[in-house]
Amino acid sequence: MQKWKYLYISILLYILFLKFLRKEGIKLTNTIDWKIVHEELYIKRKLSLKEISIKCKCSKTSVYKNFLRNKLKIRSLKEAMQLVDLNLENHPRWKGGTHIDKNGRILKCIGKGKYIQESIFNYLKFYNLEKIPEGYVIHHIDHNKLNNKIDNLKMLSRSNHTILHNQTRWQISIHKL
Ligand SMILES: [Zn+2]
Repeated sequence: MQKWKYLYISILLYILFLKFLRKEGIKLTNTIDWKIVHEELYIKRKLSLKEISIKCKCSKTSVYKNFLRNKLKIRSLKEAMQLVDLNLENHPRWKGGTHIDKNGRILKCIGKGKYIQESIFNYLKFYNLEKIPEGYVIHHIDHNKLNNKIDNLKMLSRSNHTILHNQTRWQISIHKL
């Protein structure tokens, strides 16, 4: 029975400790004028909730909750994305009017904050199409995602495209054996 007593006491102490931390946290964020933080850092300097949380020495959730509590407007995902695009030129993957995404595909800038895969852009332009039909994808014949010349592009249905890629993978594995 002794064991249980210790366990019970430690849990109790832990809960009290958490309560203490929470109280201190609230005290800390209560001294902050969230309206000024919102106006100066969030609106004027366009910092993110995360960046503000570091400056205010509290959690990101805390900044978020305090903004809500003070009825301060929080950016929508779309607005946040546009802010990211403003700084795109400083991005290591930025290459002038095009940008390479994390999957290694070239994105082409077609307006402020608007991007389209260069392969799709070239295909649509060449065949004078408005958009790629539903369920179809643009395949790179030489499997090089950076080669977006028109003779390297082919429109395939999504299922045929998957089959083709699986086949290629299988062929590669055979050659390796
Ligand atoms: Zn493909």
